[in-house]
Amino acid sequence: MLEIDARIPHGNIADPHIQTEGGKVHVAFSAHSHGGPECLWFCFRLKNKARHTRPIPVVLHLRNIGNMLGLSPGNARHVRPVCRIGGGLWQRLDPPRPLVHPDGRCDILWQMNLAGRSADVAFCYPYGSTELGSLLGDICGRWSADTIGVSQAGRPIVRLSNAKAAKGGRRPGLYLIARQHSGETPGSWVLDGMIRRFDEMGPAAPIVWAVPFSNVDGVEQGDYGKDNFPYDLNRAWGILPMRHEVRVIQPDLHRWKERCIPALAVDLHAPGGAEKDGAYCFLPNKSKHPFQHRIAKVWADAVEKSLGPDYAGKPFGRIADYPSRWETPHFDQFCHRIGVPALSLETSYQACRAGMLDIDGYRQIGRRIADGIAAKLKIRAGKGLSRQGGAE
Ligand SMILES: [Zn+2]
Repeated sequence: MLEIDARIPHGNIADPHIQTEGGKVHVAFSAHSHGGPECLWFCFRLKNKARHTRPIPVVLHLRNIGNMLGLSPGNARHVRPVCRIGGGLWQRLDPPRPLVHPDGRCDILWQMNLAGRSADVAFCYPYGSTELGSLLGDICGRWSADTIGVSQAGRPIVRLSNAKAAKGGRRPGLYLIARQHSGETPGSWVLDGMIRRFDEMGPAAPIVWAVPFSNVDGVEQGDYGKDNFPYDLNRAWGILPMRHEVRVIQPDLHRWKERCIPALAVDLHAPGGAEKDGAYCFLPNKSKHPFQHRIAKVWADAVEKSLGPDYAGKPFGRIADYPSRWETPHFDQFCHRIGVPALSLETSYQACRAGMLDIDGYRQIGRRIADGIAAKLKIRAGKGLSRQGGAE
């Protein structure tokens, strides 16, 4: 009665099994690691192949969550993937039922109704070329989208910019980057909100250059992309880069730096799969890099203040002391090396203190981050500058 199709944008599923039990269709599956050591992202379409289109009760059964980054029996109840019926709006699934087997393995089960011909299911709200196209349509004519090079599989890497800045320009500048870990879609929705807010600021905005899909191959292929082979993109930022994407973005950072007063670089991520603490950032290690820590902390404080208690995680500024497969430089370390303060920002796949995060919530986080940066730059970004009546 049901079929699974993973050949949709960002498709990812492994080991699917479909069977009917007690009037419900049971869809068991795993997230696919796509050749890397870690997995978390999944995305697929369920198709109703029956003659009728009466709602079909479906049980989604995600297996062996202990193999997924940041998931465990203790936090399984916080995991709320998204689904959409037909081409409709994405919505969170209802809270799940964790299932711990006698041997200790843990699965998670969600209930849903398939009404109509198809339903798409994903770990979090997808963000790819369609969603970026919507953003570009809304900021059309005011921002440029230029190809700065290609990925290691030959896909174009696009960089957005809000001004034709000439060499030696004296406006403050921001460099933004998302999806180094390609499955971390909350970073894209936050970037979307930031760009919309900077667009509303008009000529008062800082110079903004932004790479929406740094790991564009992983975005297109539905890879989770954290620690993936041949080399995690966010560990490839040595002076001699270990991935071609970094080889492309590094000279772009230098071009940006020559055309503004470089104020800040921001790298947008998502944390472990079950974390539900809104947005927070990683700062340089205080004991190893006290000067860089102090400068980044000033920016982090400005962003935390603007996010407010509903959206800012506690604590907001953290030190990345988890073990890494590659001890080579991150994006923010490269930025510090070339004299640019940088923040690495994490936004939950799930929730913040104000409740479950939806697309508007992610954009709101981005808008507040933009406002915090603008306030620190002493840019008057008030209501009068709004283009779409969306200013707060
Ligand atoms: Zn990441």
